[in-house]
Amino acid sequence: MRRKIEKSKYNIWQNVRYMLRMACRSRKSGVIVLCVLTSILQVFSSLTGMLVTPVILRCVEERALFSELMWTIAAFAVVMMALSGVITYVDKNSQLDKVTVRRDILLDLIKKDCTTSYPNLESQAVGKMRRRAYNSVSGNSGATEAVWITLSDIIKSAGGFILYLLMLTAVDPVIIIVTASTAAAGYGLNCYTKNWKYRHKEEVSSYGNKRWHITRRAKDIRLAKDLRIFGMESWLYDMYESVMTLYRGHLRKRERVCLAVDVLNALLVFCRNGIAYFYLISMTLRQGLPVSEFLLYFAAVGGFTTWIGGILDGFGKLYEHSLDLSMLREYLELPEMFLFDEGESIDEFMANCSKEGGGAEGCLELKNVSFRYPGAKEDVLHHINLVIKPGEKLAIVGLNGAGKTTLVKLLCGFYDPTEGEVLFCGKNVRSLNRKEYYSLFSAVFQNFSVLEVTLAENVAQTDVDIEMERVRECIEKAGLTERIERLPAGYETHIGRKVYEDGIELSGGEMQRLMLARALYKDAPIIVLDEPTAALDPLAEHDIYQKYSDMTGKRTSIYISHRLASTRFCDRIIYLKKGQIAESGTHEELLRANGEYACLFEVQSKYYGEEKWERKYS
Ligand code: ADP
Repeated sequence: MRRKIEKSKYNIWQNVRYMLRMACRSRKSGVIVLCVLTSILQVFSSLTGMLVTPVILRCVEERALFSELMWTIAAFAVVMMALSGVITYVDKNSQLDKVTVRRDILLDLIKKDCTTSYPNLESQAVGKMRRRAYNSVSGNSGATEAVWITLSDIIKSAGGFILYLLMLTAVDPVIIIVTASTAAAGYGLNCYTKNWKYRHKEEVSSYGNKRWHITRRAKDIRLAKDLRIFGMESWLYDMYESVMTLYRGHLRKRERVCLAVDVLNALLVFCRNGIAYFYLISMTLRQGLPVSEFLLYFAAVGGFTTWIGGILDGFGKLYEHSLDLSMLREYLELPEMFLFDEGESIDEFMANCSKEGGGAEGCLELKNVSFRYPGAKEDVLHHINLVIKPGEKLAIVGLNGAGKTTLVKLLCGFYDPTEGEVLFCGKNVRSLNRKEYYSLFSAVFQNFSVLEVTLAENVAQTDVDIEMERVRECIEKAGLTERIERLPAGYETHIGRKVYEDGIELSGGEMQRLMLARALYKDAPIIVLDEPTAALDPLAEHDIYQKYSDMTGKRTSIYISHRLASTRFCDRIIYLKKGQIAESGTHEELLRANGEYACLFEVQSKYYGEEKWERKYS
């Protein structure tokens, strides 16, 4: 089976030009000059190394004076040391520039990740593309850095090739033909080994992943209790051993292939050297070739092979880098499905909207909205019509899987509907600047994110221009002041221990309160709570929801829950069932209607202990 040729959008030369452009953008165009310089110096260094023995032998043959011989040796030593020193110096100096160019491309990638249209983040195809893109910037061996070394190697090999070719033309063209063809055959053999490894790449990485997964699980604190109670360690150990057995089997196969290729390579070298020896010996016998020249030409044959191999190998590597670079560029240039800066500005539009009046200011509307996730077979939401008035407290309730989160994702502009429209102040959200649209929302989702930064930074969601007075105020309203002020570093305490050793871990409830403070600090006109409290008990959830409700004042608030008691205080409740609005009204109205909401409320009340609820909250 041959290695499948990948089709990429950009070819090798386009990608090389791209890297040259990137070097100029990072003001590191010197990296190009340094690469060429390193190549030239390396060719000279190799040439000097090859000339040492023949030149010294020549001195001996010509019975040169001892002092002359010593001067020659000293001159070679000095030149070789100087060349090696300069090469190391140039190489080390260019290293930092190469890293800078790579880092700037990495920053482009991070920016793309943070700003790309949300559906791109959930798409598997885009995820695969992103992983490849990150490969090309991860570490010194990533294509964005390794490409300079490869280019330098190609220039070096090409320079050496020309120089040695000129030298060998003095001998016999047959030697050149034999050397070139054995070098090409050797390259073919090496390609065979590489292809073999490439074909088994997935297999090797699957062994690696399994081993990594097992070792990770063994030290996973979430599994630690089960592992001890159920005595799972021997099971994990056996799993690890069976993966290792398969891996060892693969390694044995790989060694056999490598051995066969090495033997064939050795035969090729044997043939090439045999023929070279034959020609050079016959030249010595026929034309009286001195030993020094014999040695020089013989070394040139070996060097010539290396340069040809270097050129072929360099282009092979350049092709691989090019594939990675192409994927990186395709990801960076991935078209956005949402409008950002090119969309209509919300501020301007709102100003016009309030001037014109019409009662639509701040109004959110879903108009005949249906939605299907990319690649899914069925719609998740069906023909939803919903108007959320400014300042309204709306609850979206329903069983798990009813479509509540999807509805919120559409309202927040993370997805556009497959059918119908989401309108803000009567304007289709598709035409608005999406970044500005997001600024209208303050949301806490199920999987909320807490960054490993300080408490104050987590509340302000920035590390610049933090208004500490407001942070304190929001923390106070969220009921966390006492906890935070007891800490030695107060608001400057880091959260989490993965990055900072002195970081603190907050409990689930404290985390909720921190999220509340964050939502309050943002002071956005629309607040969304998408079951961030699902892991808490129903009473704690009710408590938190009530707190949010008290804090959010006249802002539009949307509360999602599958526990109906948590949102009973809302102005309006919509009960979602299988992606449709099944019932709508206040809590009391829905109970009076005696439909599914009332039935579910009754079941949940019994389950959670309605009496306790009544005693505590009515
Ligand atoms: P709820 O919030 O009411 O529990 P969701 O909106 O999360 O419901 O999910 C509704 C349906 O959409 C479920 O059947 C779920 O499997 C499906 N779904 C949710 N997210 C995705 C996704 N990213 N891709 C495909 N299907 C999804």
